[in-house]
Amino acid sequence: MDRDFKIYNTLSRSVEPIKTKVKGVLSFYSCGPTVYSYAHIGNFRSFVTADLLLRTATSLGWQVNYATNITDVGHLTEDDFTDPSGEDRMAKALRSKEGEQFPNVWDLARFYSNKLIEDWHLLNLVEPTVRPRATEHMREQIAAVQLLIEKGHAYETSQGVYFSVTSFPTYGQLSGNTLDNVLEESVRDVVVDKEKRDPRDFALWKKDDKHLMQWYSPWGWGFPGWHIECSVMAMNYLGDEIDLHAGGEDLIFPHHECEIAQSESLTGKQFARYWVHTRFLQVEGEKMSKSLGNFFTVRDLVAPKDEGGKGIDPLAVRMTLLSGHYRKPFNFTLKTLKGNVKHRERLQEIIDEVGYSDSAPIEYEGEMGGALQAIYTRALDAMTDDLNTPLALAALFGGTKVIQSGLSGATEADLTSVRAWLKQMNDLLGVIHAAEAKESQTEKVDELGALVEPLLQARQQARADGNWGRADEIRAQLTELGVEIMDTPEGPKWKKVAGI
Ligand code: AMP
Ligand code: ZN
Repeated sequence: MDRDFKIYNTLSRSVEPIKTKVKGVLSFYSCGPTVYSYAHIGNFRSFVTADLLLRTATSLGWQVNYATNITDVGHLTEDDFTDPSGEDRMAKALRSKEGEQFPNVWDLARFYSNKLIEDWHLLNLVEPTVRPRATEHMREQIAAVQLLIEKGHAYETSQGVYFSVTSFPTYGQLSGNTLDNVLEESVRDVVVDKEKRDPRDFALWKKDDKHLMQWYSPWGWGFPGWHIECSVMAMNYLGDEIDLHAGGEDLIFPHHECEIAQSESLTGKQFARYWVHTRFLQVEGEKMSKSLGNFFTVRDLVAPKDEGGKGIDPLAVRMTLLSGHYRKPFNFTLKTLKGNVKHRERLQEIIDEVGYSDSAPIEYEGEMGGALQAIYTRALDAMTDDLNTPLALAALFGGTKVIQSGLSGATEADLTSVRAWLKQMNDLLGVIHAAEAKESQTEKVDELGALVEPLLQARQQARADGNWGRADEIRAQLTELGVEIMDTPEGPKWKKVAGI
């Protein structure tokens, strides 16, 4: 029997098994960072949750089409509103001390997105299937805003284009901030645009020919609102109806609420069926802030001491992030970190002795093998039960003890079991062995190819198995992505035919 993967769905407010639209294929979008600075360990707590969703699904044998974006457009420091007195994060960063090294805002964004990817690999996060950038999808964002105007969901003023919240009656379904209930006008009121029809309407486009990053649109020079990029990139790469969408808890409102309103107004279909949100990380019991001196980027912790870091093993940092459940407030402490450095050392001693191989055969034999296999099953049980990382780590530490106590008299069969266990536990949790950094996908067509190829392979497999229903479902998903498949004597070929 297939094992369920249960997760707390913010939308249904309950823990439920994930039922993917196409059996065995999970389409998944997770909101990435705004690259105006180094990402901090709080950001990475949210990215690690997404990584664990991906790893757990993959461990179940699912294929995961995983898109996570880079927001390389400024937006405002406080929120998404077109508040002329608000400050753009990217512009502010350029004027800061660190910003002095960059000749312009584009270089700043490129520098920090490269650093993000470096830190991503340091913490052993799996490279997504696609990593789209907002600036590389401007045409699609403009087209989406145009379509929203045509469909009567948006309107133009002399300052910008706004989504009309009352045109989408189910607005508020995710956050509970419904139109007739707690959607606070005070929050929306910061928008200084008297032509707005309703103070709660949110910005899709801001007219601004003085902005550091601007594009030409049917409404003149300007830049997009924050939410539209994620709607557009998610649908462009994963189709109109995606399975799973994730981010930090602060994104529930307004970002994800607005994504739902935009996407569903564009397509008339349900945008995402499962929504997963990570509670915020605090450090030593307090909100992270530079002025309190408790603000950590990944490199603050892992860079060598002579380069200003603390020289900590990145996998110990990752282990620490896993030590709290993603739905509980998490207190990152240097004490926990030190404890995990010790756990990592023990694991490393085992690896130094028996070796680690990504191609280790998954074979468990004998008494030790039986014990380790049962421990892996416990860890997988924990992860498929709403990502219970504390339990999964407890299983990991239990396994370490089993190995340490049996290693001196280990047989060849025992060693095979240990290698199988290390590989399976690492595939699931990523704290044992860091993968070689892979080149990140940047070219857009390649990105689409990265998504299409695995789907084509899954369809070929379904056809070879005589599973025509599944093959048709996958074809339908490809059609939704705007991809046409041609079955040729040399195998299937594909081309991009449509899409916003
Ligand atoms: P941002 O760059 O602010 O858009 O944030 C990128 C991601 O990190 C979003 O999913 C945020 O919700 C998440 N995030 C920001 N701060 C924290 C924190 N302290 N703890 C957990 N997640 C966070
Ligand atoms: Zn987003």
